[in-house]
Amino acid sequence: MNAPAPNAAFLSETVTHVHHWTDRLFTFRCTRDPGFRFLAGQFAMIGLMVDGKPLLRAYSLASAPWDEELEFLSIKVPNGPLTSRLQHIQVGEKVLIGRKPTGTLILPNLLPGKTLWLLSTGTGLAPFMSLIKEPEVYERFENVVVTHTVRDVNELAYQDFISEGLPNHEFLGELVGGKLRYYPSVTRQPFKNPGRITDLIRSGKVFSDLGLPVFTPEHDRVMLCGSPEMLAETKGMLEERGFTEGSMNRPGSFVVEKAFVEK
Ligand SMILES: Cc1cc2nc3c(=O)[nH]c(=O)nc-3n(C[C@H](O)[C@H](O)[C@H](O)COP(=O)(O)OP(=O)(O)OC[C@H]3O[C@@H](n4cnc5c(N)ncnc54)[C@H](O)[C@@H]3O)c2cc1C
Repeated sequence: MNAPAPNAAFLSETVTHVHHWTDRLFTFRCTRDPGFRFLAGQFAMIGLMVDGKPLLRAYSLASAPWDEELEFLSIKVPNGPLTSRLQHIQVGEKVLIGRKPTGTLILPNLLPGKTLWLLSTGTGLAPFMSLIKEPEVYERFENVVVTHTVRDVNELAYQDFISEGLPNHEFLGELVGGKLRYYPSVTRQPFKNPGRITDLIRSGKVFSDLGLPVFTPEHDRVMLCGSPEMLAETKGMLEERGFTEGSMNRPGSFVVEKAFVEK
């Protein structure tokens, strides 16, 4: 009688792994219905049954489309309707997954180019975790740069995986090695790359540190996922330089997705 009957729009999956990075950030994995298909970079509605009703929020898929399981990177918002509950999820418990993934951070929305820049803040890294595990990314681009800006060093989730695990991955290592560049930056603690990515772009430090030319709409393609301020500022900088926003109907030189909505 009390068993939650998931809405037909949602799959009910079982949590297989939970990892807490900090008191503000965690990752979990769950089973994947074989019929659940998505493109690297997309998001889905996910959530929990609360008082007999689905409570859902948009979440980027952090796992690759080829992965047998699904993975998510989540914030813990104090008193947040979903994450105040989701942060306590345990292996074996159920999560709801919307059947229709969507989103703009997908390869078909970008024109061909030489270097793909994946610029993120906070949980905005999640869609890029999927993209950097997608072989097609390395077939389409000569260089793939993922930047991740956080407040504190311990919020650099996945840093070992991006810098060590993936380039040495059994199957992807050969494709990824030499092409994938990781550029973490930290705003509130001393770090080798201090400050916001927008300042590091403006000063040119990110380009000189990576040994890559300053980006241009001719050669570079950019995906943005982060806080509303980061998106607004970076989008403005790109448009000033002549980049054009891509969409489903018209591929461009950059695409944007919100990492969350400010209420
Ligand atoms: C397209 C899209 C993709 C998203 N992907 C993810 C994801 O992969 N991982 C994830 O944790 N969240 C993601 N979010 C945010 C997510 O939908 C929820 O807002 C979040 O899980 C908090 O839910 P809540 O019910 O606890 O609080 P809410 O009522 O949804 O949020 C309360 C407030 O918390 C802040 N907040 C919410 N989410 C974040 C965040 N991720 N980082 C910093 N501050 C935040 C905002 O100020 C928001 O107004 C995404 C949002 C969108 C629109």
